[in-house]
Amino acid sequence: MTRKDLANLMFPNVVDTIYTLEEKYPKRNLEENKVVTRYAPSPTGFIHMGNLLSAFIARKIAKDTNGIFYLRIEDTDNKRKVDNGITKILQDLANFSIIPDEGVVEEDKQIGNYGPYIQSQRKQIYDVYAKYMIENDLAYPCFCTEEQLENIRTNQEQKKERIGYYSKYATCRNLSIDEAYKRIKNNEKYVIRLKSKGDFDKRIIVNDLVRGKIIFPENDIDHVLIKSDGIPVYHFAHVIDDHLMRTTHILRGEEWLSSLPLHIQLFSMLNFEIPKYAHLGLVMKIDENGTRRKLSKRKDPESAISFYHEKGVPIEAVKLYLMTIANSNFEAFLDANPNASIDEFKFDFKKVSASGTLFDLDKLLNISRNYISRLKAEEVYDYTLNWAKEYDIEFAKILEKYKNYSIEIFNIERNQKKPRKDYETFSTIKSQVWYMYDEYFTNLDYKWGKINDKKEISEILSTYINKYYNEEDDKDTWFDKIKQLAEEFGYCSNIKEYKLNPDNYKGNVSDIATVIRVALTTTTISPDLYMILKLLKENRIKNRFNKLL
Ligand code: GLU
Repeated sequence: MTRKDLANLMFPNVVDTIYTLEEKYPKRNLEENKVVTRYAPSPTGFIHMGNLLSAFIARKIAKDTNGIFYLRIEDTDNKRKVDNGITKILQDLANFSIIPDEGVVEEDKQIGNYGPYIQSQRKQIYDVYAKYMIENDLAYPCFCTEEQLENIRTNQEQKKERIGYYSKYATCRNLSIDEAYKRIKNNEKYVIRLKSKGDFDKRIIVNDLVRGKIIFPENDIDHVLIKSDGIPVYHFAHVIDDHLMRTTHILRGEEWLSSLPLHIQLFSMLNFEIPKYAHLGLVMKIDENGTRRKLSKRKDPESAISFYHEKGVPIEAVKLYLMTIANSNFEAFLDANPNASIDEFKFDFKKVSASGTLFDLDKLLNISRNYISRLKAEEVYDYTLNWAKEYDIEFAKILEKYKNYSIEIFNIERNQKKPRKDYETFSTIKSQVWYMYDEYFTNLDYKWGKINDKKEISEILSTYINKYYNEEDDKDTWFDKIKQLAEEFGYCSNIKEYKLNPDNYKGNVSDIATVIRVALTTTTISPDLYMILKLLKENRIKNRFNKLL
C-alpha cells in the first residue's frame, strides 16, 4: 500500500488537483495596491456591532483602493444556521451601504469567478487539498475515540503539560499506511489531522496590520482539518478559501489570533502566499459597575444592528460613529470637515486601537443629534415618517395629514449657522413636537415658570390676544409688542435694566413670554416662540388660550 492508495480510498471522487484549481481560480488581474477582502459570517441572521465594524472596515479598505469586497458564508457549523439567515445579513449590511462586489448577493445568488462562496458548497474543493495532504504525508487519518482523547487530556492536565494532540500524544501519526487503510476499509470512524512539522521551541514572527510584529511559538499540534462527517473545520476552510478567492487582506476578530501560527503553517505547507492579517480588538462597553466587558449579544440591546433601526438612528450617524471607533483620527477629520463624507477619509490601520474599542452609546447618539440637525427639514420629515410607519402608525398618519405643516415645524431654527439640536433620533421627535398637533394637545400638564398665578396668567393671555396679537407681525414688531405687554403688567422690557434694578419690577419680559409659551406648549422650553405662534396660527392659539381662561 502506498500513500496514494490510501488517499484514493479516502477520496474516491476527487477529480481536480491542486494544480487545476490554481488554473480555475487564477491570481486576480489587479494592480498591486488593490485590496481584496471579505466579510465571512456564519448564516446566523444576526450581525453584532463588532462584526459590523469589521465588515465596515473591510468595505472601506476595498473602496479606498478600488479593490474588491466580497461576502462569503461560513456555514460549516450547521447548528448556527437560521432560516433566511443570509438574507437578514445582506439586509443589515445593505442598510449600511455595505454591498458586496462579489460573492453571495442574495440567499440563492452568487456573483464572481471565485465561487462558490458558500462553504457548504465547496466540499469538493476542500477534498482536493485534503487528498493532496494525505498523499504527501502532510496529513493523516486519526481514529482516536472521544474517550481516548479525553484520556490524553486528563493525562496532560495531571502532568501539567500543554493540552493537545501533538508529538508523543499524537498516536495515530505513527500508524502504518496499511493499518490506516485497513481500518478505513473496516468503516472505522476517523478525522483527518494535520501532520505538523512545527517545533514549539521555535518562534515565528507575524506582522499584523493592527498589532505590528507578533512572536508566536510554532504550531506543533496536529489539529483536526476535516471532521468525521467530511466537513472541514474553520482553519482549513479559511486557508483554502482565502487563497483560492485571492484575498489580500484578512480582517477578523482577535479571537482568531491564537490560531494564527496554525494558519501560517497551513499556508506554507500548501505553498500559498500568506495574506495580510488585521486582528481587530473586541468592541467593549463599561457596564454599571464600571468594569470593561465585551459588548454582549445577550445583555446589551445596542449590540444588535436592529436596535438602531428601531430607535430611528440615522444609518449615516451609525456609520460616522463606526468610523470614529475604527480610526482614532477620524473625529479630528470630521471636526475639520463637518460636511465631508466618510469616502473622503482614508482609513489607516495604524490608527486602529489594538486593545479594542469602547462602545459609547451616548457618543453615538450625540453624533446622531448633530447629524439630524444638519439635515433639511424635508429629509427629517421623510425619515421620521418612514420610522413612524413602522413603529408609530398613529404619528405616521398625522405626519401624512399635515405634511407641509410638519416640514415647517422641523424647519424651526434649522437654516442657521448653528441649527437647533433637539432631535436625537427619529423616534424622539414626537416627544419634541407633539404640542404642535391638536390631536395630541389633550390631557395637559402645564409646567408654569415664574408667573404661576392663575389670575395673572389669564389676564396676561387675554390682554395679549385681544390687544397685541396680530398674525401678520414680523418678528421685531411681535417682540416689541411682547415688551409692551410686559411693561403693562409691571415686568421690565429690558433685560439689562432689569439686572441693574430687579427690585423695581415683578420680573422681566422673558417671564411674560414664558406664560405664552407654556399656554401653547405646556413647557417652558421650546424652540423659537415667534415661529411657534406663526405656525399654530390665530385659531389654534385662541383655542389654547381659552382652555386656560
Ligand atoms: N466565520 C468566521 C467568524 O464568524 C470568520 C472569521 C474570518 O473572518 O476569517 O468568526
